[in-house]
Amino acid sequence: MNGPDGQRLGLAAIPSDRLTLRMLRRKLAIELAYRPGGLLATKIYLHHVSTATTEGYASRPGGAQAELLAEVNDHEQQRNLELVLAEFRNYQQGILPAGPGARSLTEFFASIDEKLDPAAAPAPRTQRSDRDVLNLLTKRGKVLHLGPANYCWFTAPSRALCLRLAGTTTADRPLIGMCDSARCPQATHHPCHRPVWAEHADRTKIFIGQLGTARKTERTRLQADFDRAHRVVAEIDDASTSMTEESA
Ligand code: SF4
Repeated sequence: MNGPDGQRLGLAAIPSDRLTLRMLRRKLAIELAYRPGGLLATKIYLHHVSTATTEGYASRPGGAQAELLAEVNDHEQQRNLELVLAEFRNYQQGILPAGPGARSLTEFFASIDEKLDPAAAPAPRTQRSDRDVLNLLTKRGKVLHLGPANYCWFTAPSRALCLRLAGTTTADRPLIGMCDSARCPQATHHPCHRPVWAEHADRTKIFIGQLGTARKTERTRLQADFDRAHRVVAEIDDASTSMTEESA
């Protein structure tokens, strides 16, 4: 940075005084954030949860938080729509969701499929563009939240297990960190979540094998954990194959 390359890029020279990691991180934030579109890049690169933090880092208080948040929300909505569309296409091919919320999601997909029925519309279903389907799926995409091992369809706060456990059923977002997707009626599991559950089951099995005979409480807890993960994997497999087999 102190050489010609750094000068050509307009980077400030590194002072010869003592440097700390904190100073470096802040300086990096400022250098990134003051470039076009840099605030968003800084937020993502530094893994800030809130844009306000990034603006504080970059010495830009009162800046474009609202604008950035709207931009991020737009991206999230677009991603959600693509995920819902992918699951809807899966449904059409007989790969169904699993989990406590599977029935409700399947019913929703069935209602969309009905609307696309060639008997009810002039264009054949197979020729319907993704845009037509997306228009029908938009509302559902708005309530989708991504859990580490499930999709959360946050349609009603009062039904959210995480909120009930936290005693705050009026919140407008789920508490993903407290998600118990194997028990919440708003959760679904899909083939993309299978590896997470399968790995969890494998690891838990190894832990159980390493436990001494005296640790009965721990063994019971881990066994319940293993059974749950195993059950979720089996449900995902069943839901992925049952309809295909029926139609075969
Ligand atoms: S428990 Fe999980 S699936 Fe249920 S509402 Fe909370 S985050 Fe969503």
